[in-house]
Amino acid sequence: MEKISEKEKKRDLKEEDKKEEVSKQEEVRTKRRRSKSKKRREKKHVRTEKCTIPPTLEEIDERIKGSYLETMNFASFKPLTEIEGRIQCPKCKSNRKFYCYACYVPLARDVPQLKLPVNFTVLKHPGEKMGKSSIIASKIIAPDNVTIHNSLEISEFDYDSTILLFPKEDSVPITSMPKETLESVKNVVLIDSTWLQVNKFLQNENVSKLKTVVINTEKTIFWRYQRGVTDKNLSTIEAMYFFMRDYDKVMSEKDYDGKYDNLLYFYAYTYALIQNEYKKGLKKDKEFKTIKGYVKEKSEEDNKEGSG
Ligand SMILES: [Zn+2]
Repeated sequence: MEKISEKEKKRDLKEEDKKEEVSKQEEVRTKRRRSKSKKRREKKHVRTEKCTIPPTLEEIDERIKGSYLETMNFASFKPLTEIEGRIQCPKCKSNRKFYCYACYVPLARDVPQLKLPVNFTVLKHPGEKMGKSSIIASKIIAPDNVTIHNSLEISEFDYDSTILLFPKEDSVPITSMPKETLESVKNVVLIDSTWLQVNKFLQNENVSKLKTVVINTEKTIFWRYQRGVTDKNLSTIEAMYFFMRDYDKVMSEKDYDGKYDNLLYFYAYTYALIQNEYKKGLKKDKEFKTIKGYVKEKSEEDNKEGSG
């Protein structure tokens, strides 16, 4: 009996040792995992902080000089320049910058609001991230007139009152459309997708039946430049803005007075922020690889500042 119990004891002890060993290993692994993810979090944190040094109001004015934004009438950027870090969305509790791109809620104060004479349906590729899409800002600024359709399944349109804004070969420039024709337009479809995936939408039978119009006089200032695309290919929010500008010219038969400029409110701010960071050398080690000559050359004054 004694012998057996001793054996049992030994076995028990061994098993306990094993268990202890396993739990120790587990602990070490958990600690490693935790410290790794902590490091990752810290890295991420540093990266976002670096990217969001807000430009001053003077810097914004300076950076948009030379682009078509320069002469536009924007609401004050002051509320945006005052925000440090992120704000919690009251709906989904996520921390966001100026608005929640998932709930379409403005988070900055005094975000300009617009009522548009036509509605926009934005066909968004579900595979592309909401946070990266510049068009979401239009839903924040003109919430009653913009619908974001985040799917490849598209139902029929009212083809008498709906047009597609897209540069196809047979697209008609808006400014060459008679006022009576443009008057019948109540809904404008836009495709928000990479140029590679755009065909998925164009080949959709309900989309392909739409009449297409185009704006072909503007150059994009978009920072997410896509390979193989000319600078005439506007970003989606630029296309929306220029449509409204040209629509207004035709409909009012007067010079455009800037009433829709705030559609590009966030766009202009981000443009200035990016120009600012590269110009001030905050991203010294990284060339702006996407578009050659995108970031305007440093002025002599800037160079003096830099050396001093
Ligand atoms: Zn939210």
